[in-house]
Amino acid sequence: MKTKTVELVASPRAPHFVGDGFRVHNFIPSGFRMDMQRMSPFILLDYNSTYNFPPSEKPKGVGVHPHKGFETVTIAYKGKVAHHDSSGGGGIIGEGDVQWMTAANGVLHKEYHEEEWSKKGGDFQMVQLWVNLPAKDKKTNPKYQAIKYEAINRHQLDNNAGTIEVIAGQYKNTKGVASTFTPVNMFNAKLNKGGKADFQFPADYNTALLVIEGNIIINGKEKAPTDHLALMANDGETFEIEALDDAFVLVLSGEPINEPIAAQGPFVMNTREELMEAFNEYNVGKFGYLED
Ligand code: MN
Repeated sequence: MKTKTVELVASPRAPHFVGDGFRVHNFIPSGFRMDMQRMSPFILLDYNSTYNFPPSEKPKGVGVHPHKGFETVTIAYKGKVAHHDSSGGGGIIGEGDVQWMTAANGVLHKEYHEEEWSKKGGDFQMVQLWVNLPAKDKKTNPKYQAIKYEAINRHQLDNNAGTIEVIAGQYKNTKGVASTFTPVNMFNAKLNKGGKADFQFPADYNTALLVIEGNIIINGKEKAPTDHLALMANDGETFEIEALDDAFVLVLSGEPINEPIAAQGPFVMNTREELMEAFNEYNVGKFGYLED
């Protein structure tokens, strides 16, 4: 078994607002050799690093917008988001919860700070990922997995090193509850100061670590500080992280979907023609209706 080395450690880019409720650093697909294929099946990663929103009577967020051809995964670390979609789905994503929405053949949704949380305001920290779908699965109907924090399976590490929370995929003998279309591993690794965890994924799986809190050392060498993303090379299977202080790391690893990508705005298809079709379907109201 070979070591999976660090390809690069990316610092957070200047933040931008998505709507008025999400202040995000985009890590994928912009910049530093990270186009949509490089981390496939993870084709977008927006990270709202901890940001204090003052109290607001009117919840901030993003109004009605479409998605087609992939899945959106929202992980709430601090704060609360209310979500509604055109298939009648919706709910509250509370602290520690994960919302896994399969947009597939098309959905409209809106994402706002939860009303009561908004009135109080406070620290807000969140990740939104887009996970691509293979061509055949882009045609399936939308669905929605609301994964409550309590439902996430946990692997207790030896030596009081910490806990690996398995959202999707598998860590050692612990399996994630999220169902995925292609092999996807998504873990929250919570390590105590000095705690170590080792990971093993096939070499061709695209793998990255987003440091949510604290600082880590990877393979005893490379340091990845808070709010940085470490992109792992596709040169081996195993790596180890060690927490320099109490640390919290989002671990992503998945089998690449080796199909062409045609992406524009909220649509990710395989060809230019399918993209045009998606805009047309949206314009004629085929994704249903949702009140703003
Ligand atoms: Mn959205």
